[in-house]
Amino acid sequence: RQQTDPVLQLSAINVSFEGFRALTDLSLEIGVGELRCVIGPNGAGKTTLMDVITGKTRPNSGKVFYDQDTDLTRLSPVEIARAGIGRKFQKPTVFEALSVFENLEIALKTEKSVWASLRARLDGEQQDRINEVLKLLRLGSERDRLAGRLSHGQKQFLEIGMLLVQEPHLLLLDEPAAGMTDAETDYTAELFRQLAGKHSLMVVEHDMGFVETIADRVTVLHQGQVLAEGSLREVQANEQVIDVYLGR
Ligand code: ADP
Repeated sequence: RQQTDPVLQLSAINVSFEGFRALTDLSLEIGVGELRCVIGPNGAGKTTLMDVITGKTRPNSGKVFYDQDTDLTRLSPVEIARAGIGRKFQKPTVFEALSVFENLEIALKTEKSVWASLRARLDGEQQDRINEVLKLLRLGSERDRLAGRLSHGQKQFLEIGMLLVQEPHLLLLDEPAAGMTDAETDYTAELFRQLAGKHSLMVVEHDMGFVETIADRVTVLHQGQVLAEGSLREVQANEQVIDVYLGR
């Protein structure tokens, strides 16, 4: 597969909530291995966009193609996750009363319940995968610690780890650096640069310093439409973007 092939292709997406147009004729393409940032003021439609990709919201019209020919608008949220799309919400949601290792174990296994997952044995390949993710997320020394005892930033890393053990193709992340210390934010940027290439990432972010360090390309949403797209420098120089968003 070519680096330039799209992993995700949204075309002419419309979403209305009781007449209010949250997304209007939105088209967007993410390339395989790309790290895309999506920015835009509150209410621009960023969350709705993620909801459409993950099947949480059905568009009124338009298509979402994943991996060239899978139409995601026909799949359930569970099927979309199984197809390799992982989503992380802004607030970390980990199992606080379980250890770091157990959290990753549960994320990796497909048993129906938490308890069934913890009873099922990990095979060697699965153990290796968890250990690799622990190392990557710098949580190796925390593996037996209760997740509830981690710092906010470590919980964010753990949740990213819970996605990574599932080996997703496309990761959707909502303000991953929110509430992190400077050092944690720097490591998040480094991590995303490492993940890009092997995975495709779409990151909704408000922190422009963070966007500058991570993004290949930036998409600016405004009132449910794509206002501009390009490098951060390009979109920051765009007159419309300056008017509606950056020219505070
Ligand atoms: P962002 O994430 O960029 O802040 P959202 O996607 O959350 O924007 O929202 C886009 C617009 O759609 C907002 O004006 C919001 O109030 C509206 N909206 C989002 N979800 C719903 C819903 N379920 N019902 C009605 N309006 C909604």
